[in-house]
Amino acid sequence: MWCQKECRRQTDSPPHLWESECRSNRSNRKKPPLNHFLPGTEVYSLGGIGCNFRCKHCQNWEISQIAEFRGTLYDISPEEGVRRAVKTGCRSIAWTYNEPTIWHEYTKDMGRLATEQDLKTIYVTNGYITEEALKDISPVLDAFRVDIKSFSDSFYRSVCSARLEPVLESTIVAKECGMHIETVTLIIPGMNDSPDEIRALIRWVVEHIGPETPPMHFTGFYPQYHMTDKVPTTAATLERACSIAKEEGILYPYTGNVGGNTAYQHTYCHACGALLIERRGGYRTDIVGLDGSRCLACGGEKSPPSWSEVIQSSRDFSDTRIHAAWSPGLH
Ligand code: SF4
Repeated sequence: MWCQKECRRQTDSPPHLWESECRSNRSNRKKPPLNHFLPGTEVYSLGGIGCNFRCKHCQNWEISQIAEFRGTLYDISPEEGVRRAVKTGCRSIAWTYNEPTIWHEYTKDMGRLATEQDLKTIYVTNGYITEEALKDISPVLDAFRVDIKSFSDSFYRSVCSARLEPVLESTIVAKECGMHIETVTLIIPGMNDSPDEIRALIRWVVEHIGPETPPMHFTGFYPQYHMTDKVPTTAATLERACSIAKEEGILYPYTGNVGGNTAYQHTYCHACGALLIERRGGYRTDIVGLDGSRCLACGGEKSPPSWSEVIQSSRDFSDTRIHAAWSPGLH
């Protein structure tokens, strides 16, 4: 497996050449890619180029598959990235857009600086990282938003040119390291949408990660890149996946990346059903039913478990600059 950026690394070169290449990034300020991690705050997001996967449906293929990259990149050092995050009032930094594990050294350097500034850090990742590497960065990595793209190794092989097992293993390691975890499965009609496969994935999560955490996201596919022969996922398909998750004991299943409103776009208290966080149009986040991390309706003992810090604010992210060409939080 090669990442198209790594292959150009000159391993016998001084470290600054490696850093120089890694510093080709783009950035913006946006809503967090996680539902239970600092909701109501903004996150400073950075991405680079290249990926260790070759997903035929990649929504960010223009940067992840560098051979086809034609855009503009900016040099942002770890120090400059942290400075910008602080200056813009963000509470966290997310490495997203492409695969952050392929610029491990850069994210580790920035993570160390971010921690010193009391910023949280997030990997939006395909989970293809060794136990050694994940434990190496774990002291400065707070959240692991991992794609489990399918529960079929043949899907991983044929669609992503990768394997399923390493993704499952790294998710377990992230849990052991105490990271906040949320999983994302992009549902492609006819490819990974069978109820049996979805149920098997959910059962694995319940058994190995736990029903309370992580929240599980089921997101919609749109024809893209080398997979234009499939139709977009319907909201009903995503809601069906969430219903299965509920049946299997997942407390917080979510739909995402699909038009219109669904029954699973908001956060409800798992104990009493009260509305806790309202999300409209994907960009408006209103915290309406929480006192700190506790449900206002049913109080302490029934409070939602496993929340990270909740900021008591509502934010409209629709005025923040979202770059249309590349999708933050979408692998
Ligand atoms: S979908 Fe994600 S993991 Fe797959 S090629 Fe694109 S950036 Fe890489």
